[in-house]
Amino acid sequence: MIILNVVNLKLYYRTSRGIVKAVDNVSFKLNRNEVLAFIGESGSGKSSIAISIMRILPRNVHTYTGQIIFNGIDLMKLDENTFNREIRWKKISMVFQSAMNALNPVLKIKDHVIEIFKSHTLINNENECIKIAIEIFEKLGLSKDVLDRYPHELSGGMKQRVVIGLALLLNPELIILDEPTSALDVITQANIMNYLKELKWREKKSMIFITHDIAIASDLADKIAIVYGGKIIEIGSAEEILLNPKHPYTQKLLASIPRLRIDLEKLEYIPGQPPDLINPPSGCRFHPRCPYRMEKCTKEEPPEIDLGNEHIVKCWLYY
Ligand code: ATP
Ligand code: SF4
Ligand code: MG
Repeated sequence: MIILNVVNLKLYYRTSRGIVKAVDNVSFKLNRNEVLAFIGESGSGKSSIAISIMRILPRNVHTYTGQIIFNGIDLMKLDENTFNREIRWKKISMVFQSAMNALNPVLKIKDHVIEIFKSHTLINNENECIKIAIEIFEKLGLSKDVLDRYPHELSGGMKQRVVIGLALLLNPELIILDEPTSALDVITQANIMNYLKELKWREKKSMIFITHDIAIASDLADKIAIVYGGKIIEIGSAEEILLNPKHPYTQKLLASIPRLRIDLEKLEYIPGQPPDLINPPSGCRFHPRCPYRMEKCTKEEPPEIDLGNEHIVKCWLYY
C-alpha cells in the first residue's frame, strides 16, 4: 500500500548567479513499512527533496511545484497552518542533516521534547510529554537522565540518538533521515543502523534514508533511488540496483565502492565534475561524464524507461 506518492516535484532556488534547479521533476512512490534510500553525490539535490516533503523551505525559493500525495491527500494543497498542525512532526517527521549540531545549546534535552509537543499538539502537561519521551529514548538505548542534560554534555552518538528520538516523539508514520550517521565513527554508525532496522521491523515505520554512502544504505533499504543533478536517474529494489545496475552513473558509483579484499587499483572513479544546477548540461545531465554518450544524449533528455520489476532508468541506452 502506497503511503507517499511524489509526482513531478520541482524545487528551484533563486541566487545572485541565477536559478538553481535543485529538484527537477522528481517522481517516486513509497510503500508503507518500506525504506527508500536516496543516494547521490554532494549537491545532487537529496536534502532539497527531503525539505520539499517536510515543507521547511529557505526564503529564496523560486519554484515549488508538483504533487506530494501522502495517504491519498495532496499535501501541496494544504495551507501552512493545517500542514503544521496535522502533518509536520505528527505524520511525517525528519532528522535534518547535521541536526545533532543544531540542538539549542542553552536548552536541556527535556526542553527540546516539551517544545515539540507544544508546537504540534494540544498536550501541554509536561510530565506526560516526558513520560512519552522516556519510553522512546529507552528504545534507542538512552537512559532517562539524558533528559536533564544539555546537548554539549552528550557524545556524538548520544546526540544523534536524541535527534532520532525527537523525530519519533509524536509517533509519525513516515520518517525522513538525512545523512543520520555521516558524522559518526563506524561503531556508533552500526549501532544507529541497528536501531533503524528495529524501527522498521518492530514499529512498522516507513522511512526515507538519505546518504552518499551506498554501502550503508544497502543494509537497510528496500528500494534505492539514485539522484544525479536534481533528478532521479534510476530507481528500483535494493537488490536490482545493487546487483543489476543499468544507468552508467549507477554502475560507476557501485564500482567505486571499496570492498574488503579487492584490488584497490581496480577501483573506478567518476571523472569530471557534478553538473552545475544553474546551467545544467543539455539532454542527459550525465552526458559530459558518460563513456557511452551518443549524439542524442547531448540533445534530448532521456525518458523514464520501465525495465519491469519496478526498475526504472533514465538513459537512452535502454530506449
Ligand atoms: P549534500 O550531500 O552535500 O548534503 P545534497 O544532495 O543534499 O548535498 P542539496 O543540499 O539539496 O544537495 O543541494 C542541491 C543544490 O542546491 C546544490 O547545488 C546546492 O548548492 C543548492 N542549494 C541548496 N540549498 C540552497 C539554497 N538555500 N539556496 C541556493 N542554492 C541552494
Ligand atoms: Fe550516458 Fe546517454 Fe545514458 Fe546519459 S542517456 S547516461 S549520456 S548513455
Ligand atoms: Mg544534503
